[in-house]
Amino acid sequence: MRRKLAAGNWKMNGLSAQLSEVEALCAAHPDPKVDLLIAPPATLISSMVVTASDHPLAVAGQDCHAQESGAHTGDISAAMLKDAGASHVILGHSERREDHGESDDDVRSKARTALAAGLKVVICIGETLEEREAANTLDIIAGQLAGSLPDVLTGENTIIAYEPIWAIGTGKVPTMGQIGEVHDYIRSKLEIRYGEGVGLSIRLLYGGSVKPSNAAEIFAVSNVDGALVGGASLKADDFSGIIKALE
Ligand code: PEP
Repeated sequence: MRRKLAAGNWKMNGLSAQLSEVEALCAAHPDPKVDLLIAPPATLISSMVVTASDHPLAVAGQDCHAQESGAHTGDISAAMLKDAGASHVILGHSERREDHGESDDDVRSKARTALAAGLKVVICIGETLEEREAANTLDIIAGQLAGSLPDVLTGENTIIAYEPIWAIGTGKVPTMGQIGEVHDYIRSKLEIRYGEGVGLSIRLLYGGSVKPSNAAEIFAVSNVDGALVGGASLKADDFSGIIKALE
């Protein structure tokens, strides 16, 4: 049985004052029936870990380098995230792929390094609007799965987030049929590559303009095990509404 997961991605948002939102969130969900995860900017990881220390809220990095350490000014290693108290790292977000030219190979290398450092990985995949309109979505998803996922993973240490790029931060959401088609497809691909046991145990998140108002409908779709939430994770009230829809 896959436990549901509500994950928030703060992106390049959040100063220390915003930790009050995390306090409010923890107070609103003292005993959540789902797993909770927030990926703040790297500057807030340590303090968010302290803020959440008495609550079942896990903290994630938003990226890490593929190398364990070295001359990579401005980058952050998997070991540094772990040392700061993070348990997870998001990899291959479309904004990393777009802004930093990250390829599937890069994402797979980062995932290997992160897993070796003891982090759990949230690997993001998703198609552009052009790819969807050209009816290439499933081929794109297949390619990203094949290229971005390491050969060895488990349902315990890996989560996959399907995030259609055209739905991120736009207020546009695919139809429930479109979400279900992709999630079912991802599930079948995982079962083929990793075997039924592992394939069925990996959690699949949907991401892209999830809000309290649409969360329940999205969470009712087959093979949707939770959400990766951007904008609506910044405010405790909004994220709380999404968590309640998942519970
Ligand atoms: C995201 O950035 O992963 C995301 C899903 O953003 P939003 O919820 O704002 O669309």
